[in-house]
Amino acid sequence: ITPSFDTAEKSPTRRLFLSVIEIDAPLIESFAQESMIHDLKFAIANDGKSGRFDLKSDAGRPLKSFSWTPKRPGTEMVQGLLPMIIAALAIAGILMVVLMRKLLSSSASLARREEEAQHLANHDALTGLPNRRKLELELFMRAGRANVAPTRLAVAVVDLDRFKDINDTLGHHAGDDLIRAVGERLAQSLRADDFIARLGGDEFAILRECKELVDADQLSATIASAFATPFAVTGHQIEANASVGVAIAGFERAIEDLVREADIALYEAKARGRGCTVRFAPAMAKRIEERRSLEVDLKIAIANKALTMHYQPIVEAATGIVSSVEALVRWQCPKHGNVGPDVFVPIAEESGMMADLGRFVIEQAIEDSKRWPQLSTAINISPAQLRSASILHDLIEPTKRHGVSPKNITIEITESVLMANDQRTLRTLNILKDSGFSIALDDFGSGYSSLAYVRDFPFDRLKIDRSFVTGLEDTSRSIEIVKAVVNFGKILGRDVVAEGIETEQEMQAMQAAGVTHLQGYLFSRPLSAAHVEAMVNVSGRLTASRTTERETAEPAASAASAAVSQAKIRRVV
Ligand code: C2E
Ligand code: CA
Ligand code: CA
Repeated sequence: ITPSFDTAEKSPTRRLFLSVIEIDAPLIESFAQESMIHDLKFAIANDGKSGRFDLKSDAGRPLKSFSWTPKRPGTEMVQGLLPMIIAALAIAGILMVVLMRKLLSSSASLARREEEAQHLANHDALTGLPNRRKLELELFMRAGRANVAPTRLAVAVVDLDRFKDINDTLGHHAGDDLIRAVGERLAQSLRADDFIARLGGDEFAILRECKELVDADQLSATIASAFATPFAVTGHQIEANASVGVAIAGFERAIEDLVREADIALYEAKARGRGCTVRFAPAMAKRIEERRSLEVDLKIAIANKALTMHYQPIVEAATGIVSSVEALVRWQCPKHGNVGPDVFVPIAEESGMMADLGRFVIEQAIEDSKRWPQLSTAINISPAQLRSASILHDLIEPTKRHGVSPKNITIEITESVLMANDQRTLRTLNILKDSGFSIALDDFGSGYSSLAYVRDFPFDRLKIDRSFVTGLEDTSRSIEIVKAVVNFGKILGRDVVAEGIETEQEMQAMQAAGVTHLQGYLFSRPLSAAHVEAMVNVSGRLTASRTTERETAEPAASAASAAVSQAKIRRVV
């Protein structure tokens, strides 16, 4: 109720404007809405709510009160946020659990992986057998035991024979399968406390604690019997053989050397013709040492071109006339004496010196061949050499440089190069043939001797291995085989050479069998180039124009002896 000043001044009578509103439910409701109080009440009773507004009479007597619950922003916020907080906590909790589980499982898999890595480090992937590392650990462990108990340790190193041939002919998968099968067979046939490991390649090692020496012998027998039956590999029945080297830790020998000694014995077993078991003896180590020293000196000899070439005549079986010579390398070593090519050529092959040795041989033989243009010159090419990338260049380039026609050069290869049946080798041989070189198959009959090789590859000449010639008197079978090969050669139009003829009997037998050419000590040993040159000159006089004595070849002595050997050749034929 408000006095109006304007009207109050104008009129002396004070007027009042009175407006009455009934506080009824809708009004309270609209109050509540305007002031955003949801539980506004208007009542007499004191209902204990903390928000109140009392209406009093003029006399100050309480009439009625508005009462409500005042808002507390904090509580409300808490109330509003509570579900979210709970949800967040729940999510965090779940996350935590998930993380925990992840951590646990990853640490478990870490442990598992570590175990796997440990297994891999100690085992061979192909066979699942322990590897060399594990063998060494085992050896170390058992050596400790052997020191206490009166036992000896035996190590047998087992190596498959001619495993490379299996790989080459049947493929690497078959090779892998065979190794796996051999590993299984060996593992099955051993005693429970024997230990077997794969050392790599086609090599296994077996460790046995021996109370008696006979235990070691039994181990050898067990290994041998494991190879008695063929192995079924990718549809083939493979007759695998193995060479075995055995070393036994005696009181005088150190355990650490056991595997090395077994390896040396294995090497000896291979050298003795494979398929056998050899027990280590100290003398063997000396031979290995000697071989190592040969290898070192051979390298120096090749680098210094300290090797020489000798040439062995090959004569026509019908006439005895020398038609060609075979180049054979010689090494006169100041330290080791006269070392034969059958010793040092394999060393050169195994230690990667064959390419250099081969280049020396080719260069020297082609250069020397100019001294006897009327004869063809045969050069032995080893399997590794033939497979080398540079072989075509190594052969063709020197003929060009020296102006020698490849028609005068014969390449002698052994059938083992054809066994692999790889296209590159065949291509190489075909290119050589197209370039004019002749190709001879050497040592025919000594290896796998497949007639298919001879049929499928156009060889110009077959050289029957010496083993069919030597001691022929006692075996009529050999002569039958020679006859068959000769017939085969005739059908295909190839020369057939019999090598290693030492006696007149052998010569006659070979002539009777129909070979076209003969080679051997009976006619001539390998000769120096000067000697061959002299012989050719002498033979030139003998067979062609009989020119004057004054034209005698340069080295009188060799010419004379050459004349003698030539005369001998004519006489025996
Ligand atoms: P091969 O190719 O079969 O050579 C024939 C071997 O038989 C030669 O031995 C030769 O001296 C020998 N020989 C010849 N006639 C007779 C005989 O009547 N009786 C006996 N018992 N032996 C006879 P060599 O020179 O010791 O060569 C041995 C092997 O070394 C050769 O066998 C050949 O495979 C290899 N070789 C020799 N020279 C070379 C070469 O320059 N390069 C290559 N890659 N290998 C070579
Ligand atoms: Ca030869
Ligand atoms: Ca031969």
